[in-house]
Amino acid sequence: MPHTETSPERDLLRSAGLRATDPRIETLRALETHPHADAQEVFDAVSSVLPDTSLQAIYGVLSALTDTGLVRRIEPAGSPARYELRVGDNHHHIVCSKCGAIGDVDCAVGHAPCLTPSTTSGFTLTTAEVTYWGLCPDCAAAPLT
Ligand SMILES: [Zn+2]
Ligand SMILES: [Zn+2]
Repeated sequence: MPHTETSPERDLLRSAGLRATDPRIETLRALETHPHADAQEVFDAVSSVLPDTSLQAIYGVLSALTDTGLVRRIEPAGSPARYELRVGDNHHHIVCSKCGAIGDVDCAVGHAPCLTPSTTSGFTLTTAEVTYWGLCPDCAAAPLT
């Protein structure tokens, strides 16, 4: 039954020229419910549906999805790579320096790259990669120990 139905995930994979395999479909579904998940979290979600999946296979799936632009990889300093489906809008991330929670930040002002450098050295700019660091509400509310 799941092998014949159509789904947004299948269409997405086909539009990117990828075969719609079950691990790829389930990885996309995992990222829909767990934005900014790392490979281990994706693996935990996928293996609950596909028990034969290995973490190594998930790394392969994530790399194929990232290479074709379906998934964006973000790599905050000191954190494993995280993956998300929100691609192409040059949004930024805010990371809790205590627990590692990640939130999305829309462009600060106007259009991408939304940070105007004092000099571009002749480069044509397309993207600004910014990570904001701070404390998430939970950590900010936690009593100091
Ligand atoms: Zn936190
Ligand atoms: Zn994001």
